[in-house]
Amino acid sequence: MNNQSNGIYIHLPFCIKKCAYCDFVSYENQVEIAAAYVDNLLLEMEQYRGEQADTVYLGGGTPTALPPHLLVRILDGVKDCFNLADDSEITVETNPGTCQKETISALKKAGANRISLGAQTFVDTELSAIGRIHTAAQIKEAVLAIRAGGIQNISLDLMFSLPGQTEESLLYSLEELIALNPNHISCYSLTLCEGTPLYEAVSLSKTEVPDEESDRAMYELICGKLKESGFDRYEISNFAKKGYESRHNTKYWIRASYIGLGAAAHSFFGGRRFENPATFSDYEKVARGEQEREGTSLTEKDAMAEFMFLGLRMIKAGVSKKAFFSCFKKELDKVYKEQIARLCRLGLLEDAGDILRLTNRGVDVSNSVFCEFV
Ligand code: SF4
Repeated sequence: MNNQSNGIYIHLPFCIKKCAYCDFVSYENQVEIAAAYVDNLLLEMEQYRGEQADTVYLGGGTPTALPPHLLVRILDGVKDCFNLADDSEITVETNPGTCQKETISALKKAGANRISLGAQTFVDTELSAIGRIHTAAQIKEAVLAIRAGGIQNISLDLMFSLPGQTEESLLYSLEELIALNPNHISCYSLTLCEGTPLYEAVSLSKTEVPDEESDRAMYELICGKLKESGFDRYEISNFAKKGYESRHNTKYWIRASYIGLGAAAHSFFGGRRFENPATFSDYEKVARGEQEREGTSLTEKDAMAEFMFLGLRMIKAGVSKKAFFSCFKKELDKVYKEQIARLCRLGLLEDAGDILRLTNRGVDVSNSVFCEFV
C-alpha cells in the first residue's frame, strides 16, 4: 500500500471522429465496445483497492462520447475501490458536440466537480482545418450546458499556431474564450505528429502553419492577454484564476504518485513508471492480471533529472532546493552546479534563494533548458 494520496487517471480512448492532428491513443467508431471496456476498468481498479486518492481525472479520447450511465459506473467504481478524500478534485474531459446538460447533471451526481472542455479556437475555418467535429457556437452551448448541469469549475483548452491562424484571429479567440469566464485555461501550440493527416498535408505543402517566430509571438500574446484578464500563468501552458490551478495535473509536475487506468494509461506508483498497452486486447489481459505492464524503476540520476525538468514547468513555484534535498538527500546546488551557473549566466534561470525558476527568456527555450538536466 502506498501511503501517499494518489491521483487517479482513467483513459477513455473513444472519439466520435479523429481530429486531423491527433496522436493520442483514441479510436473512432468503437463506442459499442465501451461497456466491455468499462468492465475491464473496474477489474483493473481492484488491483489498487484501498489506495488513497484525492484527484480523479477522466481523460481521453472524449469521455462524454460514452453514454452517461457508463461514466457514472466508472465514478461509482472509483468511490467504491479507492479511499477517496472528501474534497477530491474530480475532472471529466469533454468536447463540444458531446456535452449535454443531462450528461453533466449525471456526472455531478456521481461526484464530478470540474469539467475540462476542448474549445481549441473560436474561428470555424480554423476548427475545420484541424478536423474538429464542432463549431464555435457549439463551444458556447457546451459551456452553458455545463453550468446548467450544475458544474461551475470549468477549464477551457485553446490551441495556437493553427493552419490559417493569425495573431488577429487568435486575439478574437482569446476574447471569446475570456468572455465565457472559465476558471482555468490550458493553451497548447499545435504539434505536428508524424502519421497524422495534418502532418501529411503540411509536408506536402497543401496547408501551412505559422512559423516559429509567429508561434512565439502568439504565445506572448496569450500570456499578455490572460494576465490582464486575471489569469495567473502557474505552468508553461496553464493559466488559472486564483485557487483554480489543476490539482491533478500539478501531481505530474511535482512527481506525486498517480495511478493510470485504461488502455495506454501511464502510472507513477511505488517509485516506478509504467504504462498499459494501447490495444484493447492487450489491455484486457493487463486488467485481468494475465499480462505484465511495461515499466522502469528510475535510477537516482533519472529521478533527479525528472525533478528538474518537470518542476521547472511550474513557472511561479519553480523547484525548491529544500524539496530536492528531502527527496534525494543531496544538495541541488552541488548536483547541478555547472548547469545552474551556465543557465543563470545566460539569463534563462533565476536563482531566488530556495527556489530556482525559469525566466521569461528561459520559458521561450524551455526544452533546451530541460535538456541541460537530462
Ligand atoms: S477529440 Fe481529442 S482525443 Fe479525440 S481525436 Fe480529437 S484530439 Fe484526439
